[in-house]
Amino acid sequence: MEKEVEELIEKAVTLVLDAQKIVVFTGTGVSTESSMPRTKRSSGLSTATSNEFVFPTFVGNPTVRRRSWQTWNMFRMIEMAQPSQAHYAIAELGTMGKLDCVITQNVDGLHQKAGVSEDKVIELHGSLRWLKCVNCNRRYPMIEVANSLGEGEDESICSECGGLLKSATVSFGEPPPAKETGEAEQHSRNCDLFMLLGSSLMVYPAANMPIYAIESGAKLVIINLGTASLDQEASVLINGTVGEVMPKIIEGVKSRLAQ
Ligand SMILES: [Zn+2]
Repeated sequence: MEKEVEELIEKAVTLVLDAQKIVVFTGTGVSTESSMPRTKRSSGLSTATSNEFVFPTFVGNPTVRRRSWQTWNMFRMIEMAQPSQAHYAIAELGTMGKLDCVITQNVDGLHQKAGVSEDKVIELHGSLRWLKCVNCNRRYPMIEVANSLGEGEDESICSECGGLLKSATVSFGEPPPAKETGEAEQHSRNCDLFMLLGSSLMVYPAANMPIYAIESGAKLVIINLGTASLDQEASVLINGTVGEVMPKIIEGVKSRLAQ
């Protein structure tokens, strides 16, 4: 690794050591490094796939069984996806007691799989781990529905009201979830270090979060391949992959703590 990058990592290590409440914000750059199925729009599993999860009216449709099986296979792939080095490194901040929360644009649930507790993950674009009834909003674990489809059930419908089930993700054109957005803003305003990882922040309200943090006096660390809109504001800006850089930062923090 270049000397310049090593110095930047050392600076980031110091910021992490000095921080008490770190907000980690993750975009597709974090999930592209894990074993997720690829989408047409990006190399990571993004909300672009949501439309593929809208369950059309199944009943009376001759292709119903085939479609169910395709869906089931997609669910299996999501279930089998494993966290990357980046996810595990972020989870270590939690073990150290420094992680306030993870705000993520990803819908794959891999932060939780890597060990970040459920109550510390704010999913701005929803989650593929859950299905939601389009009629009564009741939620179902995706894997349960996947298993019932795998056992040959034709339909994925709500057992309460018979409504269709759809993945609990935010589709294109849908407004961002108010609860999650509000929580994300609150945590961003109350952190002392905001780490923007693998996101170029093209969409609002996500793009506001680091601005709230900076306004409230937090330091900003950016790790991203390519540029992000807030590069000028960053205390430390590292042009690299999160999976390569983040474990080095954690390693550096640990060795300084051990001294
Ligand atoms: Zn229902």
